[in-house]
Amino acid sequence: MTDVLAPTALDLARLEFRDELLASGLLVGTSVPGIYGRSGDFERVIAGLDRILGEAFAALDATVLRFPPVYPRADFERTDYIASFPDLSGIVSSFEDGDREHRELLAAREEGRAYEGWLKPADVVLTNAICHPLYATLEGTLPSGGGTYDLSGYGFRHEPSFDPMRLQSFRMREFVFVGTPDAAQLYRDTWLDTSVALLASLGLAVQAVPANDPFFGRAGKMLVSAQLRENLKVEIIVPLYGDLHEGTAIASANCQRDHLTHAFDIRTTDGEVAHGACVAFGMERTVLALVRTHGTDLEAWPVDVRALLGL
Ligand code: ATP
Ligand code: ZN
Repeated sequence: MTDVLAPTALDLARLEFRDELLASGLLVGTSVPGIYGRSGDFERVIAGLDRILGEAFAALDATVLRFPPVYPRADFERTDYIASFPDLSGIVSSFEDGDREHRELLAAREEGRAYEGWLKPADVVLTNAICHPLYATLEGTLPSGGGTYDLSGYGFRHEPSFDPMRLQSFRMREFVFVGTPDAAQLYRDTWLDTSVALLASLGLAVQAVPANDPFFGRAGKMLVSAQLRENLKVEIIVPLYGDLHEGTAIASANCQRDHLTHAFDIRTTDGEVAHGACVAFGMERTVLALVRTHGTDLEAWPVDVRALLGL
């Protein structure tokens, strides 16, 4: 019988990597797993990566849009996020009552009791996927040829972990296309290839593999098999722990089909429901994959990689 609490060799390798990141100062720990501060060096790599991503996708001439890390709860309700990923979501709550209720709240707090009962859900939720706020703005008919968008921002996913690659709050850069079904499929496949080549040029041992989203519960199992069968999600993975693990996803290229376009009633000029596709890069994960590959000392990274990133 195996002891379920005993850490595996992979757990130990991840903990060791995390310790190395904390010791080097690239990450600064907090009391919550998956929430870190980052050093100036870490952010220099993020900035370089952000720049070369913009250059690699420049031919798209995408509309640049930046949203804050929260978006309207009414729009969240139009997605099926709470059905598919209840465990990952984050609803914001705040205090909306008067002095009397505030005194009650403080008294409960003073006694060490829970005071969440005095808070109410606010009209915003934490953004989980940075394309959701975009889709919420596209209701109606798209321009002919569809639309292409360059997004960047923080996503929240409630998945606390000691694995430094699995954060609760992290940045994504996403290039989204919305248009006809054929154009969406072509977009995904074309820009997947560009993305693999770009990441490989940074010295990462990338591989594109079929993947699925972590849909919740029994109903989720059917969504997983449909996603795999129809090849809707491809992840770009990098092996970080030798034979212990096949690799961690640093980016994904996705065919959303009419998933969000249907929810937000987004149509092409012929009146049909549009299809969406996106290529999404995990910014922190990509930097961490670079650190794992080239070491914690940025000065010692290969000259060509440093030059590409402007380090
Ligand atoms: P995973 O299968 O590893 O949980 P995902 O399928 O949920 O990832 P996507 O929704 O495709 O991820 O998000 C796009 C990218 O964002 C991922 O390829 C990854 O680089 C990054 N990402 C996703 N979840 C996390 C996380 N918890 N911490 C850090 N980066 C993440
Ligand atoms: Zn997306």
